Amino acid sequence: MLEGIIIKGIGGLYYVKTDKGLYECKARGLFRKDKIKPLVGDKVLIELNDIDDMGYIMEIKERDTVLIRPPVANVNQVIIVFALKDPSPNLWLLDRFLILAEKENLDAVICFNKIDLLEKDELEKINNIYNNSGYEIINTSTKQEEGIEELKKVLKDKISVFAGPSGVGKSSLLNTIQPNLKLQTGEISEKTKRGKHTTRSSQLMELYFGGWVVDTPGFSSLDINFIEENELQDYFPEILEYSVDCKFNDCKHYKEPKCGVKDALEEGKISEERYNNYLMFLDEIKNFRRY
Ligand code: GDP
Ligand code: ZN
Repeated sequence: MLEGIIIKGIGGLYYVKTDKGLYECKARGLFRKDKIKPLVGDKVLIELNDIDDMGYIMEIKERDTVLIRPPVANVNQVIIVFALKDPSPNLWLLDRFLILAEKENLDAVICFNKIDLLEKDELEKINNIYNNSGYEIINTSTKQEEGIEELKKVLKDKISVFAGPSGVGKSSLLNTIQPNLKLQTGEISEKTKRGKHTTRSSQLMELYFGGWVVDTPGFSSLDINFIEENELQDYFPEILEYSVDCKFNDCKHYKEPKCGVKDALEEGKISEERYNNYLMFLDEIKNFRRY
């Protein structure tokens, strides 16, 4: 048996990349019984059929993570891209992406792109907002090829999904990292197309220096109403850190006295922008629960 990773699925066929090459595979019936469907990103064991070189997926290795949108298994991290200008960054939306990353158990890396459009002190200001958040920050410009090596280092040997609003430079970044990235996995041949029932799933694109990138951006739903009020702090690493100093166990860090989070805020250990967004999300969840 050969070990590989599913990089594409279409009409019941799976494309498995192994050390020996790319194989078209079918799933064995045994998964259907367990109601497990192979997913792009799955690490699998395949058995080859000598006659036509087709493969059969015999085993799916346990998944580390499962993303629903796009449906991909074993994604390690999300690169959340925001432009510093054109369009100017909406930090409320960025914090929302960070919450969703936490929910999916993904490491999040913040990528501020288009740094060529900002003055240095402006860049510092926005970096400072996230300095205490615990997230890695990369500042990039595709125009001036800045931060690209840093981004490559972060992507190396991992499965990454990009996320962020449109127009921030996600495609440009991928293109700068690796021109032709989109073309690498190749097109599906005519014979495997199965009429109108064929649905194209997301694909993994292989990075030449090691690692994979999901070809569609992550998180199309930005709903955070799955969170309970008293759980919201779990999605803000720096707020969670200082909540241990709160007097009340169920402190929401809003109007409660003796709040470690508000103390940290006053001491500048938590940024005001992050805290204010936390309160806005708290309010949103509260209102949702009311109905
Ligand atoms: P996407 O929608 O996130 O994939 O964004 P695109 O990659 O399509 O980029 C949107 C626009 O931003 C394009 O006109 C790019 O040329 C431009 N752009 C991308 N990166 C940079 C950058 O680093 N600096 C500047 N000034 N413009 C950029
Ligand atoms: Zn508190």
